[in-house]
Amino acid sequence: MAVTDYHVHTARCGHAGGATRDYVLHGLSRGLTEIAITDHVPLYFLPGEDPDPGLAMTLGELPGYVEEVLALREEFRGRIDVLLGIEADYAEGHEEALATLLAPYDWDVVLGSVHFVAGDWIDAPGAGARHEEEGSANLWNEYYRLLAKAASSGLFDVMTHFDLPKKFGHHRPPECEAAEDAAVAATRAAGVAVEVSSAGLRKQVAEQYPGPVLLSKLVAAGVPVVFSSDSHAPAEVAWGREKVVAAARAAGATEHVTYRKRLRTAHPM
Ligand SMILES: [Zn+2]
Ligand SMILES: [Zn+2]
Repeated sequence: MAVTDYHVHTARCGHAGGATRDYVLHGLSRGLTEIAITDHVPLYFLPGEDPDPGLAMTLGELPGYVEEVLALREEFRGRIDVLLGIEADYAEGHEEALATLLAPYDWDVVLGSVHFVAGDWIDAPGAGARHEEEGSANLWNEYYRLLAKAASSGLFDVMTHFDLPKKFGHHRPPECEAAEDAAVAATRAAGVAVEVSSAGLRKQVAEQYPGPVLLSKLVAAGVPVVFSSDSHAPAEVAWGREKVVAAARAAGATEHVTYRKRLRTAHPM
């Protein structure tokens, strides 16, 4: 049986704490059989060597990150599988830069995220005000347009926090359903999976990503699921796992998937 957490950060990103080894140890204590370390990719689409130290590792830190994860894989071999992953931002027009950045490494799984929407972060502290200032429907439509492009790009294995703009409590307006449906269809067509993440349960919206209705839609479309915590501290590894598994079951999922060298395997739930 595969007991997994597919979204785990490290202190390199500047807004997570603790030693990477402690994330693995906590996963072990929670009964995980595999953990994908998936720190934020360097902000390759913004100018400068270190455009935002509080958001991501620098380009120079990437080789050390990979080295550390591979060393942990060796250390924990036979106890828990430590996978080499990354959470990579999608940035429209910068697809080749991302492909070039990822190319030198033998990733197990690449998570695709849209955090940068209409010129700014959609999930940064205070970004909730953007819904009032810029129009919630505008942001949601633009977000889903980008998410559909990201899913179709061939760069990613799993789309993260599919309904991220709800983070501060601004649920998707009814008039944005078509954009949402297009993102679901693009994800399905690209053969990309979706994470069911407990992170939303820890945010203002207090609901897993994706919410129940959207998750049912994704499952019905045939999009595979992975389970994740989006941990930014060792104690968050596997946090809320029972809840996200139950949510996937309630949405009709009967299996979840794992990755090795970007190849997917399905497991019954
Ligand atoms: Zn983060
Ligand atoms: Zn993210």
